[in-house]
Amino acid sequence: MARRKNQKLSWRVTFSHLKKSWSLVKSGRKNLIICGVFSLFICLCSVITPLLSAQMLLFLTDGLLEQLLGVAFFIFIVEVATNVFLYFNQTLFAKYWTYSVSEIQTQLASEILKLETSELDHHSSGVFIDRLNQDTKDIVSIFTQVGDVLIEMLANIGVLFAILVVSPYLFLFFLIVSILVFILEKIRVTKRFFLDRKRRKLYEKNTGLISELVRGIRDIKVLNAGDHFLEITRNRLEEANQENYIMERTNFRYTLVINTIKDIFMFLFILLGCFLVSIEKLTISGFLIAYMYRNRIQSLFTRFSRLVELLKEFDVSCERVLEVIEDERYQKEHFGKTALKKANGDFEFRNVTFSYNEKLPVLKGVSFYVHANETVSFVGKSGSGKSTIFSLIDRLYRVPDGSIFIDGIDINQLTRNAIRNNISIITQNPYIFNMSIRDNLRLVKENMTDQEMIYVCQMACLHDFVMSLPNGYDTVVGEGGLTLSGGQRQRLAIARAFLKKTEIILFDEATSALDNETQLEIQQALRNMQGEYTILIIAHRLSTVIDSDRIYVVDDGKIIAQGKHEELLKECSLYRNLYEKELK
Ligand code: ADP
Repeated sequence: MARRKNQKLSWRVTFSHLKKSWSLVKSGRKNLIICGVFSLFICLCSVITPLLSAQMLLFLTDGLLEQLLGVAFFIFIVEVATNVFLYFNQTLFAKYWTYSVSEIQTQLASEILKLETSELDHHSSGVFIDRLNQDTKDIVSIFTQVGDVLIEMLANIGVLFAILVVSPYLFLFFLIVSILVFILEKIRVTKRFFLDRKRRKLYEKNTGLISELVRGIRDIKVLNAGDHFLEITRNRLEEANQENYIMERTNFRYTLVINTIKDIFMFLFILLGCFLVSIEKLTISGFLIAYMYRNRIQSLFTRFSRLVELLKEFDVSCERVLEVIEDERYQKEHFGKTALKKANGDFEFRNVTFSYNEKLPVLKGVSFYVHANETVSFVGKSGSGKSTIFSLIDRLYRVPDGSIFIDGIDINQLTRNAIRNNISIITQNPYIFNMSIRDNLRLVKENMTDQEMIYVCQMACLHDFVMSLPNGYDTVVGEGGLTLSGGQRQRLAIARAFLKKTEIILFDEATSALDNETQLEIQQALRNMQGEYTILIIAHRLSTVIDSDRIYVVDDGKIIAQGKHEELLKECSLYRNLYEKELK
């Protein structure tokens, strides 16, 4: 219902969008206002020039060359002043734009970071990239664009009244022409608005596709699927560009009609002017002045429709940005208010049922507990729901059914920091950022010392490798840690987790990409941590979990058995099968 209402985009909505956007560009407002003052001067200069030109022509026809030169010099001064004003206007605008765009983009990025993980799962990355990249810029530009158009319109209204003084007939004529042009422009703008909205939806899909193409380029090459992928890309791009073409074509058609009508009326204006001069209802100088200002008057309503057009385009952009910021369409993570500086590390899942798509449950009434400083493992077939359990512990998804307790407190009552500062997850495919190794580590501890950095890297068996690199810890590792091997990425992620120094550490197949030797070393490091930290492990290789205080066997979203390794070998056929398979 709310969306329907938005689709009409009333002036009330536009006004509210402007108000909200104004509060988003806080730091640039001063520059923007000064920019507006310069625009006012520029506009005044441009209004004076035609009047002076008309006067110059009159002096020429009267043979008053000295006066003509005087006016010419004045025009020269006005033109120079316009250029100076324009310089300051453009410089200030560039300054306002630069800072405001970064400001609003950062705000939006911070809101995207707060989105529920399920929102990120369900939407293509293009949805967020386009909003970050383009829509934010449209919002920042709107104030100067609207300001310029309004100032120009104001000046044009002044000119229209000047014509009223010159000749009420011409005034009436211009008024009728302008209203007609305005009606036609309004039809064009409304049509364009709906086409534009559709086009942008397709564009964001394209951005997602292009970003996947770039990120997946290695796999595309290895699969030798380049031709097929290009075919898909071309079809999708064509679809979006087709929408763009339709929009522009419609636009050009309306513009053609409007311009032709304007030309006809200009011709009629000359006929009317000549007629009025012939019956002495208009002086030659009056006709000349009206002629000099004809374009300004004509553009009065074209400007007005341009204003409507700008505001409609802005409405689309603003609506798309606010959807993310205001938690209306894209849901945000909501946390409780209970702080927990240092968790003991007790966990409990009480009858938790969870599904990603509200249809098929992935977890079905899961209950288990973990005491502080225990090492507990989860084993089971792939797809049985083990990683999902970890995602829920870190509150990456909401728990609709059942409860999760950390130190006896319901997870829904805990603050974001209480959860995320107390838990580290090391996943199967950790994301390593396109920064130096040092900066990747610094992400989790800004004031990390070199000693700490080296210590955690030694713990994660990464230090020797880093020292073998020409730039050591300052080596930049490429997007997603492209220049590192799978094992090195995992070791860097493990070092990051050690540095975070949380009481609770979750290892999700975290050692799967490591060679046997490194894996043994890291397992030793883990063993050293046992008893001091609460450690939860998901492992394919059962040999890595034999030492656990307790092992939970997960099957089809349920915990079907629990116990120590020896007990499970006797009591749980699934565990026994998994173990035997591994031995073979
Ligand atoms: P495991 O860790 O035991 O291999 P997961 O917890 O990763 O299993 O996955 C359990 C099920 O949930 C699988 O069927 C998987 O396809 C599905 N699943 C995992 N992540 C998502 C997601 N983000 N969106 C939708 N389904 C998912």
